[in-house]
Amino acid sequence: MPELPEIMNIASQMRECLVGKTIADITILQPKCLNTAVENYGKTHNRRIMDVEARGKWIVISLEEDLLLLVSLGMGADTVSYPPGSPPNTGKYQVRVQCGDGSGFTLRFWWFGHFHMVQKADLKDHLVGQLGPSPLADSFTPELLASILRTSRRKVKELITDQRRIAGIGNAYVHDILFLAGLNPLAQGSRLDGGATARLHSAMRELLQRVLSKRGLAYERDFFGNPGEYGREDFLVGYREGEPCPRCSTAIEKIRFGGQSSFLCPSCQPPVK
Ligand SMILES: [Zn+2]
Repeated sequence: MPELPEIMNIASQMRECLVGKTIADITILQPKCLNTAVENYGKTHNRRIMDVEARGKWIVISLEEDLLLLVSLGMGADTVSYPPGSPPNTGKYQVRVQCGDGSGFTLRFWWFGHFHMVQKADLKDHLVGQLGPSPLADSFTPELLASILRTSRRKVKELITDQRRIAGIGNAYVHDILFLAGLNPLAQGSRLDGGATARLHSAMRELLQRVLSKRGLAYERDFFGNPGEYGREDFLVGYREGEPCPRCSTAIEKIRFGGQSSFLCPSCQPPVK
């Protein structure tokens, strides 16, 4: 499932390819991925694409006159561009966006995704308008992280993957973030001291930046159909149950809580007393 690094990578490629172009047509073959009637997407016609950015696990495409297209790739998707003059994409897709110059892109959700449209003024009523800050934003300081952790008595793993508190971290990278920070996933977020909060802050940024520099996971594809370079061998403890911890060689454990698995080193991330 794509998380912040994959989405940032695709959004920046889309920005380079699409900004300045106008939308000529949108073809929708799976209306259940929409938040409004198919015919309303006619509003996008002849509007120029002004910007494309990542908001957590969503891609936000801003059009002229404050109209926004919001794309969630769900469990994964092929978001593939095609150049001007190429024949229409005949592959299986749910959504196709055609630009005025004949280029465009298609969305093929692996499982299920969203292709929503809202006016910017109504964004506050949409999930995207309620997302927490990006952990890679300049404004995401250790103080901001501390204030987010203080708001709840929930476990640190639940807190930092709650998209309304911090946007973009999910089950791919949370295990290695907590390992880098030396924190047990079951620790209560509001009880982390200043040192632990600072470690968590730098672990988030270091890990996500590392994945971003490798253009995302090896089994996800970018806007040009190329895979990322962050492979299984790059994971530290995530999905490595039974293998030695890269720091102390203790066997990595898998524990379950809240219906989900967590991977950790029991020595480097001791349980909280
Ligand atoms: Zn260890």
